[in-house]
Amino acid sequence: MSPSKVSTISWDSFHNTVDGQARNSKSKHRGINPATGEELWEVPIGNQQDIDDAVKSAQNAFETWSQTPLEKRKDTITKFRDHYMSFADELIDLMCQETGKPRQFATYEVKGAAGFFDHHLALDIPEERIEDDEKVLLTRFTPLGVVGAICPWNFPIILCLGKVIPALLTGNTIIVKPSPYTPYTTLKIVELAQEIFAPGVVQAVGGDDKLGPMLTTHPGVAKISFTGSIATGKKVMAAASGTLKRVTLELGGNDASIVLPDVDIKKVAPELVMGAFQNSGQVCVATKRIYIHEDIYDEMLKEMVNFTKTIKVGDPSSGSLLGPIQNKMQYEKVKTFFEDSKSHGYKFAVGEPEVSRSKGYFVQPTIIDNPPNDSRIIQEEPFGPIVPTQPWSDEEEVIKRANNTNAGLGACVWGKDVERAERIGKRLQAGSVFVNSWEKPTPQAIFGGHKESGIGGEWGTEGLKSYCNAHVLHTYKSNCNIYVSASPAHAAKDCGECDTGRYHRTQHTWLISVEPHKHHMPFVPQHKLEPTHFSANWKDDGYHVHTHSTGGVIGTILVKEGAKGDVEHIQQVLQAALKPTPANTSSNQTPDDENDRWVKKGLHALQTDKITDTFDLAEFMTFAHGANRLDSDAPARIAYPGLHKDHKEKSSKHHFWLTYPTKAPNGAEPGSRTYGGLM
Ligand code: NAD
Repeated sequence: MSPSKVSTISWDSFHNTVDGQARNSKSKHRGINPATGEELWEVPIGNQQDIDDAVKSAQNAFETWSQTPLEKRKDTITKFRDHYMSFADELIDLMCQETGKPRQFATYEVKGAAGFFDHHLALDIPEERIEDDEKVLLTRFTPLGVVGAICPWNFPIILCLGKVIPALLTGNTIIVKPSPYTPYTTLKIVELAQEIFAPGVVQAVGGDDKLGPMLTTHPGVAKISFTGSIATGKKVMAAASGTLKRVTLELGGNDASIVLPDVDIKKVAPELVMGAFQNSGQVCVATKRIYIHEDIYDEMLKEMVNFTKTIKVGDPSSGSLLGPIQNKMQYEKVKTFFEDSKSHGYKFAVGEPEVSRSKGYFVQPTIIDNPPNDSRIIQEEPFGPIVPTQPWSDEEEVIKRANNTNAGLGACVWGKDVERAERIGKRLQAGSVFVNSWEKPTPQAIFGGHKESGIGGEWGTEGLKSYCNAHVLHTYKSNCNIYVSASPAHAAKDCGECDTGRYHRTQHTWLISVEPHKHHMPFVPQHKLEPTHFSANWKDDGYHVHTHSTGGVIGTILVKEGAKGDVEHIQQVLQAALKPTPANTSSNQTPDDENDRWVKKGLHALQTDKITDTFDLAEFMTFAHGANRLDSDAPARIAYPGLHKDHKEKSSKHHFWLTYPTKAPNGAEPGSRTYGGLM
């Protein structure tokens, strides 16, 4: 332990963690070091009570953790990252023992997890805002609750933290169930997490395969994130259906690698081999079928064989490139692919038909040269260091061959002609396709399978959503339309057609009308739609502001459609701005000037309060003056929306139609008319 570390962790005893406490059990089991066949430490076998307690604790912790602001959650996860990294050396040692991985790859996995932290910590939980005139739609992604993480044995740290980090970031709490074959690093990481997180936020219950179904059927678990085989994935999905849990299933693959004729053979051959044999083939996205163009088939195979012969297989500290198969069950399964290939007489380009006995579960990397399409080695995922190659000549045909599988996790295309390689890549039915690289999943992008390789995916921004419910807030606006109208002083006197009595306009009158947006009134508001009008009437002592809720306003300009704010608020703003003023306005001002001042003041208040922001006051004033002087000889200066005296057509003494010469902001087509007039 480095001197800076403050921890009570012991590295030779292991326990489950429930509600922040170590949890042991009478039943124990032991993992096996696959490089030596020796038994490792005892670990408890969790039971239903442990799962029930863990779920209860996770539900309690969810109450607080889900409400903790994202930035604070990130701070806590960052502390966890740093704490985890300070134990990298101990974790590398442990991983070498539980998986048998060569030390450099154990190091890569342990330290590579920092990249998973860092990438996720830089993400924000997506949010989407759509606004139209009527409403705002806010789509947020909120945590699901308690997540059950069921993990496999091939990458016990990455595939565990690859679930823990996004689940916690999005506000969920999580219970991890490690594979019975590789419980050690997971139990220690979760133990370390207890020094950072509140009890119940991250827990681990390991044991045997009975625990999986306890999680998948538990009514208190909201989601299962499962990584494992297709066969178990189907069981998980069936079990989760009883409580309609969300599931993410990361399952097996049967990745095809297509090699175009223009590749640099010497350069690509070792890459193809590593794509197939990385982690001794125990990678869901390892290359599992290699299709080489017939023009270069023999030469490429020869180079691959040569490189494969240089690969050293051995225990973690031997400087080997490949370690053992992780467990006996898988070792026996991989051997059946050798037996099957041998019994059918397939050609072993490199490797022996008999897997030689060793202390550990070691298997030499093996290439099967051109087995038939219906062979087991083509059809199934061996999950070990044995891979078939086949030649191809026709692009369409090889794409069909590559896609002819129930799996769809990954695929590769190799070629100097990148355009062609990408074109082929786009047609491969797989969640992640790699061009000129073997399969290297990254936390930067969602990782998930097509077809039977899985449901959903994890990592990347999209992956965050898999730990969330979509939550849409539809907020309808109580916005308004704001109109301003103008009446000249003399109009009220002789208008026989209007209910002038209601307004008693004996002076120049200006109106600002605020209308509930839902009315969607065009240009001229109609009677009886309950708008709220504000009028300022000139009296001897100045302008007085009134509100009234009925009545029509004619000769009106729409200042702002869908103004922000509700009627009441706008009313308050206007009333504050338009208090009756003493008749002290400078004596040389004409009533028209007073009108202008009044309206400017009112509209300025609306702008200041950000209720309306787009109208052009000068333009409005021009219009208003023009409307005001409709039947005077003064030159019409109507400017909005392009209305002009020339476009006025009187229908009666005080009423007229206004014709739009161009498309108007209210949607009116050129040539359409709207009613205007003076009262
Ligand atoms: P597995 O399916 O046997 O086991 C995975 C996990 O499921 C283990 O923790 C196991 O205890 C648990 N489990 C077993 N029975 C269960 C049940 N009925 N309900 C719930 N959980 C149950 O897989 P494995 O052998 O550990 O892993 C190898 C497989 O995983 C390969 O097929 C490989 O391709 C796949 N894999 C996929 C990905 C991916 O991301 N797509 C990654 C790694 C491995």
